[in-house]
Amino acid sequence: MNKSLSCLCMALGLLLFSSGADASNTISITAGPVPSVSVTQGSSIQSEPISPPSSLPVSAPVKADKKPMIAIVIDDMGVDMKRSAQALDLPSAVTMSYLPYSRKITEQVKAAKDKGHEIILHMPMQAENPKEDPGPHHLTVAMTPAQLEENIAASLDAFTGYDGVNNHEGSKFTTYKPGLDIFMADLEKRHVFFLDSRTSPQTVAEQVAKEHHLTATHRDVFLDDVETAGAVVGSLDRVEAVARKTGSVIAIGHPKDVTLPALKTWLATLEAKGFQIVPLSSVVEYRNQVCVVMAQHIDNK
Ligand SMILES: [Zn+2]
Repeated sequence: MNKSLSCLCMALGLLLFSSGADASNTISITAGPVPSVSVTQGSSIQSEPISPPSSLPVSAPVKADKKPMIAIVIDDMGVDMKRSAQALDLPSAVTMSYLPYSRKITEQVKAAKDKGHEIILHMPMQAENPKEDPGPHHLTVAMTPAQLEENIAASLDAFTGYDGVNNHEGSKFTTYKPGLDIFMADLEKRHVFFLDSRTSPQTVAEQVAKEHHLTATHRDVFLDDVETAGAVVGSLDRVEAVARKTGSVIAIGHPKDVTLPALKTWLATLEAKGFQIVPLSSVVEYRNQVCVVMAQHIDNK
């Protein structure tokens, strides 16, 4: 998918979201011998035959109802075992992203799953600042394809049961298309989605993921880049604003003392404000289904 189509996808998402749709307005993709996409009301697009990309989940209808979707991801999970355990007390709709080199990773992931959290894998990648250490088996732009494959396998095989992957650090590696091509080809085989944490404005990771037919999207807000209570509250206000404006938002926070209590308090207020807290995969699927509808519309012009 090219860049202008991505922009159009966002525009269609906005159109669908702002069209005053009610709960009966749905985008649905139906599996079967002749898969079809249909959009009811608020759009001129009607049922058309379509062949969805192979990695796109085709079973779950995504509602474009009035409630904006908020997905919260806690990443860097697993290394600080005490605070990672505390994070599991957040509502089960909060998604947990585990560093593959954490101690007792299988047990930690099982505890999170037992509490109903969606799990993703937090893939270590090289940062622009050489003083940042993303940890064991991180991917660098200096590695040969064989070295990359070795480190990718070491991380992706560290535990099982994850639905997606996002990058840990990676402000350098996510700008390096040759390495990303190798990484995304491996993710495609594992049928997982990709979330670009967007640690660099120059990242091409989401674009490369889509070239490899992955369902992919990007983080909108970081919650705790500045570790003060006031800054976290300011970030949470921004999360609400983005959700209201576009219909969905993805925010990333970390298992920090400044973040966890603020999140717990704020999450309890969201339903009354008219938001829905959803697992990350719900926003990823919603955004990618909007793109499939848009691509089909353009193909038929
Ligand atoms: Zn991280």
